[in-house]
Amino acid sequence: MPIPIHDPNHAPGGALKRLPLLKAAVAFIAAVCLCLCGLLFLQLEQSRRHDVESARIASANLTRAMAQQAQDTFLQADLVLASLADWIQDDGFGPSTRPRLHQIFARRVQSLEQLHGLFLFDKNGHWVVTSFERLHRGPGVADRDYFKFHQQNASLIAHVGPAVPSRQNGEWIIPVSRRLNDPKGNFQGVLLAGIKMSYFDQFFKSFNIDDQGEMALALSDGTLLARRPFDEAQIGRPLADEYVYEHQHASMGAGDTDLRPSSDGIVRLHGHRHLQAYPLVVTAAMSEQAILAGWYDRAFQSSLIVALVVLGVCLFGWVFVRQVRNSERIEADLRKAQEALELIATHDSLTGLANRRLFERALDIEFGRGARQRSSLSLIMLDIDFFKRYNDTYGHVAGDHCLAEVAKVLKACCHRKADLAVRYGGEEFAVLLPDTNLHGAMALAEQIRRSVIDKHITHSASPSGYLTVSLGCYAFVPSSLDSTEVFIQRTDAALYQAKHSGRNCVAALSREGAFDALERSDR
Ligand code: GH3
Ligand code: MG
Ligand code: MG
Repeated sequence: MPIPIHDPNHAPGGALKRLPLLKAAVAFIAAVCLCLCGLLFLQLEQSRRHDVESARIASANLTRAMAQQAQDTFLQADLVLASLADWIQDDGFGPSTRPRLHQIFARRVQSLEQLHGLFLFDKNGHWVVTSFERLHRGPGVADRDYFKFHQQNASLIAHVGPAVPSRQNGEWIIPVSRRLNDPKGNFQGVLLAGIKMSYFDQFFKSFNIDDQGEMALALSDGTLLARRPFDEAQIGRPLADEYVYEHQHASMGAGDTDLRPSSDGIVRLHGHRHLQAYPLVVTAAMSEQAILAGWYDRAFQSSLIVALVVLGVCLFGWVFVRQVRNSERIEADLRKAQEALELIATHDSLTGLANRRLFERALDIEFGRGARQRSSLSLIMLDIDFFKRYNDTYGHVAGDHCLAEVAKVLKACCHRKADLAVRYGGEEFAVLLPDTNLHGAMALAEQIRRSVIDKHITHSASPSGYLTVSLGCYAFVPSSLDSTEVFIQRTDAALYQAKHSGRNCVAALSREGAFDALERSDR
């Protein structure tokens, strides 16, 4: 089947296949922005993990130093107690030895700055000797936990008890005590070294930790002995939940937790370490705010840079998309203009039919196709009868209207897409019929002739009284030797024959040059 001449896909300047540039640009920009955000997230996450890891190392070092200091502090006091206990168990603590014991106690306290005082209690908990000048006169220490512990336990190793306010002068002390036995092994009394809580406070203060950081010394059961920041209300109480966690999960070891909220709502990293020689634990906590202070700055800077880049990319994308849209709009306008020009250049403005230029182009194409496909090509030439008279009678405007009416008839009669109705010139028309033989062309010519008559256009200057047309038909299978001029000439000859035969008829010319048929009726 022949390809229609007016197929827009084959016309010059027809719709171009274009890539979905807009969608691709939007997808690309979205992908770039996503990649940038993803990279930022990965980089920040990695840097955050690095900072937390560094804080863990710092926390481990801090708790190691604290544990070492606590161990040394208690060990020194314990060694003093051990040597004194040996001495007392050998010599007893009768009235004659007490002045000397007092002097020894006082010298020992002077030599160890962590010591608040040294105390010797008899088996009823009464003061016997202390490192202080004046012996305290009071009900004794029989109610104290450490005293009861030694009373009930035969163990001779040192005991560290919960912090208490000294009955000597009210200062907070951590009691380290040893049981004293008589030669038979019976409970003879308690020797006590009071370690200043302020000693630990000063030690804790010597570290450079953040304002929301915490340091603490506690018994292994969690009872708080000393802490930074100092809070008297907390002393002697169990450590908060975050420390209890450590005790439950890391007894006798060292470790740290993840960043999580403390009881005061501040998120901290908690590290801890148990002392090897004593049932004590040191803990240190650094606030997330301090750990991640640098990270927050870096995160802000990186996010700002990425946000600016994303903004720039989006801005560029927006300009690009606008530009593409503009180009598309301009292109669409140009295409429309081109189509309009094409229409003007190839069609007749009065009738809307193809003009002679398009006819000649189509003729060349159909000649080639007919030759290739060995198919018959037909041409009908139409001329309005006595049209000069019509103009003269009704005027040129009416004549133009009449031409348009005849064109409408041609359009209505050309059913196939490949058929081309043409205004050949003046009041002459042509119909090019690809793949149509002479018989088919004559049938169509006759249909046109009758349709014009059926319009009942009055033509008083015509012998018939109404408008008629004459048509000439010619058909052949073109070959490469044939020329379009001959094809037109022969059709024209057929038309001439129709005119010559009295008008208002169809004449056909065979390839051999004979007039094959002549239709005439409805005069
Ligand atoms: P015939 O039957 O032999 O064809 O007689 P005719 O008068 O139609 O023949 P002729 O070729 O002498 O006249 C053609 C006339 O068509 C001349 C001209 O005035 C008229 N004509 C040509 N083009 C136009 C047009 O665009 N508009 C109008 N109104 N008339 C036109
Ligand atoms: Mg004419
Ligand atoms: Mg005429």
